[in-house]
Amino acid sequence: MPIAEGFSARLRPLLKDLVAAYGTPFHIYDAAGIVDTYRGMTDAFQGEPYRQYFAVKALPNPHILSLLLAEGSGLDCASPVELELAGSLGAGPGDTVFTSNNTAREEYELALKSGALITLDDRSFLAKADPLPDTVAFRVSPHGLSAGSRLMGDARATKFGVPAEQLADAYRDARARGVRRFGIHGMICANELDVDRAARAATDVIELGARVAADTGIELDYVNVGGGLGIPYRTQERPFDFRRYADAILAARRRCFPRSAPRILMECGRYVTGPHGVLVTTVINRCSKGRELVGVDASMSALMRPGFYGAHHHITLPFAEGRALSPYDVVGSLCENMDKFAIDRPLPDPREGDVLLVHDTGAHGHAMGFTYNGRLRPAELLLTRDGDVVEIRRAETYDDYVSTVPARPGPVLPRAPHA
Ligand SMILES: *Cc1c(COP(=O)(O)O)cnc(C)c1O
Repeated sequence: MPIAEGFSARLRPLLKDLVAAYGTPFHIYDAAGIVDTYRGMTDAFQGEPYRQYFAVKALPNPHILSLLLAEGSGLDCASPVELELAGSLGAGPGDTVFTSNNTAREEYELALKSGALITLDDRSFLAKADPLPDTVAFRVSPHGLSAGSRLMGDARATKFGVPAEQLADAYRDARARGVRRFGIHGMICANELDVDRAARAATDVIELGARVAADTGIELDYVNVGGGLGIPYRTQERPFDFRRYADAILAARRRCFPRSAPRILMECGRYVTGPHGVLVTTVINRCSKGRELVGVDASMSALMRPGFYGAHHHITLPFAEGRALSPYDVVGSLCENMDKFAIDRPLPDPREGDVLLVHDTGAHGHAMGFTYNGRLRPAELLLTRDGDVVEIRRAETYDDYVSTVPARPGPVLPRAPHA
């Protein structure tokens, strides 16, 4: 969708100077938009026990994470590096959840030491985890639940979670091994814009939690409904109605847990930051060769979603108003034909030197970047709430590209003694 009106109004007067002074490409994020979205989520839960843990993988820039921590958000980590990053920003015990899958034992131990709330993805981990944490949550397999978001893939082929029929035994086993407090975790949608479907999915997890609690006699401290809420990438899509979603969750919790009120946890990434970022590029080539090509100075290494999943990102040329629209392919410079930001997209006669914005890059954008072909990741800027633009990550350079390569390779194994 066109970038949030507020962001657009704040960015537009700065854009020409910014591009002239700083150069392109870069991602720029809107602090006010991110904070407002976060606060809106909190308001929707009306003071009921609830906490949102921002999914670090969506936008792992420390300055953004700090902004969210300062608002009271927790962080959802899925790897040791994400945990370390959270720790370095002052996230304390209880401020992180660790929801990994195919977890190595060392990673689990690290998460335990950091004080994260740990979600186990399989029962088998109970036998390996030593010691077990005080609180354990199991992740529910999406199979058999209201899964169905396209990006989740086929729920029957899922690698995630404990199948519903094994859940009660998993909790009994955990209790027998000394675990004293329990949660349940289920993430069964991805980029879901339909509130009813998302609410149904969260309700499934709440109902399953209530069933397990009744079957086993355990009390649930929390229900973590994961992330996966959608944002309107297309202009005709409407924003997700978070208030209605929160109301449905609270109603399901009251219905399923009339006497206790387990906390509701969420791990949204995309919904919090996705609409509050844009990739700013410059048109560097216009070619007509059977297809009308618009070459920009960023590549898929800065934003892989369109090339990788065929994901739609809205594109605008803010200074090309009034020109007639016709279809173009917008391409980067990687030696890969999939390196395209858009195919057959109606655009206003792009010309060399035009500024071109790729919208909604605030989640799973820079974070999924890579360096293939020596097309390095661009900078990240932040439009602060005071209206300043600050650099929160510089663009990568040649030195970064070779920084992990030793000048003189040493032997990995001890030298074999001479015979
Ligand atoms: C990716 C992921 C999230 C965040 O997903 P969004 O679509 O960005 O909300 C949350 N929890 C888990 C376990 C994930 O894998």
